[in-house]
Amino acid sequence: MCKTVLITGASRGIGRGIALAFADKGYNVAVNCIHSIDKLQETAELVQKSGASCKIFPADVSRYEKTEELFDNVKKEFGNVDILINNAGISIIGLFQDMTRDEWERIINTNLGSLYNCCHFAIPDMVNNKCGKIINISSVWGIAGASCEVAYSASKGGVNALTRALAKELAPSNIQVNAIACGAIDTDMNHFLSDDELTSLTDEIPAGRLGTPGEVGNLVRSLCDGSSYLTGQIIQLDGGWI
Ligand code: NAP
Repeated sequence: MCKTVLITGASRGIGRGIALAFADKGYNVAVNCIHSIDKLQETAELVQKSGASCKIFPADVSRYEKTEELFDNVKKEFGNVDILINNAGISIIGLFQDMTRDEWERIINTNLGSLYNCCHFAIPDMVNNKCGKIINISSVWGIAGASCEVAYSASKGGVNALTRALAKELAPSNIQVNAIACGAIDTDMNHFLSDDELTSLTDEIPAGRLGTPGEVGNLVRSLCDGSSYLTGQIIQLDGGWI
């Protein structure tokens, strides 16, 4: 029987890399984003080329009612979500003291609130089936904190704490909850960096380069295929950076 995996924020970057890691026949792949419908369709076509069934489900996962509709639509098409990848996220760079209340709410609702929304609709079926995986895409800044990314760091710190706590709550139901704390991954999120800034960033990373979306995808896939005894972990994928 095919397993259904839902990946939020899969129009580009890390989410697309994760979708491609599930592009084989054993999976129904549900991909989501908020605005970039053409790019989301492109992700779906790339996944379908490799033999998996894949459909697009645009929705704003920072909003509870929209997330409910998203899960209703995925269920109608593919049945219960067996694997939930909470990847959708945004960053806002700047001094904390200059951040508006609206920006604060936008980043917290997108990066952390979306986990409440998606988990809320995914968990009941997983508990009924006594089986499920939740993987949260977090950041090393949730561990170390970053200047000029205070709200982002707070949101990802929240993701890490939620991961550890939810893993304990769901382990008796054979549901594993883990997070991948990414370092610098080569996506649009970092494309604001100038060439000089990129060079000094790369110099700080022991591996000497940024990570790729495909590498995040491969780690997500190996967590899904791997031991059901691994849960509650925040796994750093950062080339030895932090
Ligand atoms: P990205 O290239 O900017 O892509 C972000 C994705 O999230 C897009 O698909 C976007 O959809 C989607 N999204 C944003 N808000 C959404 C919402 N409210 N509802 C549904 N989808 C939404 O970013 P990325 O670098 O791939 O980042 C993916 C995740 O990895 C994020 O959680 C980020 O914090 C984390 N991360 C990234 C890095 C890095 O260096 N890149 C490092 C650490 C952690 P649209 O295309 O429609 O806007």
